[in-house]
Amino acid sequence: MRIVKKPQEMARLSVLWRTQGLSVGFVPTMGALHRGHASLIKRARKENLKIAVSIFVNPAQFGPREDFSRYPRPFAEDSRLCAGLGVDALYHPDAAGMYPEGYATCVEVAGLSDILCGAFRPGHFRGVATVVLKLLEMVSPSKAYFGEKDYQQLIIVKRMARDLNLPCRIVGCPTVREADGLALSSRNKYLSPEERRLAPALYAALKAGARAAKKGGPAKKVAAVAERRILRIPGASIDYVSLVEAESLREASALAGKLRLMAAVRLGSTRLIDNIPVMMG
Ligand code: AMP
Repeated sequence: MRIVKKPQEMARLSVLWRTQGLSVGFVPTMGALHRGHASLIKRARKENLKIAVSIFVNPAQFGPREDFSRYPRPFAEDSRLCAGLGVDALYHPDAAGMYPEGYATCVEVAGLSDILCGAFRPGHFRGVATVVLKLLEMVSPSKAYFGEKDYQQLIIVKRMARDLNLPCRIVGCPTVREADGLALSSRNKYLSPEERRLAPALYAALKAGARAAKKGGPAKKVAAVAERRILRIPGASIDYVSLVEAESLREASALAGKLRLMAAVRLGSTRLIDNIPVMMG
């Protein structure tokens, strides 16, 4: 596995692969890799001849009071995991390489970036869209893989790729969970043992909402059912619980079509997000 630090080196390598006619699968991450990331890499491995993974803790997507400085960065461990999964290039740029002096350009996916998580993390999705576009430019993959765990991010990246005619397919992959239902996340490390014990109740609440949807009735009831369950978690505070249309992310007005039940909850100092599909007949 080659470890690549410089944007130009990554771009040269991907040009070489493409001139050899090799399909390139790409998995962008912020590191602290777990089985969720591994599932994306394995899927990419199945569908492409070359695999690039990036690890970059992107300062542009963290707010001033967020966890940028304490975000875990176990690079040696991550690197071993990638090598074991057959990754060809591990792209690990530094902030100065990504955002050189005088950097001024950003991408805004209007309408999708300021709702749900975007309403609580101003500028977050601008930072995400910008770094993903830059990474896609450098790696030039045939397909790029994103987790449904970060569903709003997946929809924003898909919309950006469509709007900007990017020659890359954005592939969404199912959320990988612990046995008790908690969605894997690099941030789960922040949970105290007691918070870790309580955290699976978020997924249980979403499942209760989805079950309520199956019974029909007004759309508002679904988020309300999930919300009531979340409020029973000691110490939890809700950022939002919302039933949305799966593509537009607009609040569902009726129980029809493809919907997604989305939630963000604070447990102590940790912000947990999760979502599940709600398929109506
Ligand atoms: P991150 O390192 O948190 O930026 O995540 C990198 C990619 O891994 C994103 O596309 C995430 O959606 C995806 N991912 C993170 N956690 C999971 C999970 N539990 N299951 C599936 N994909 C995940």
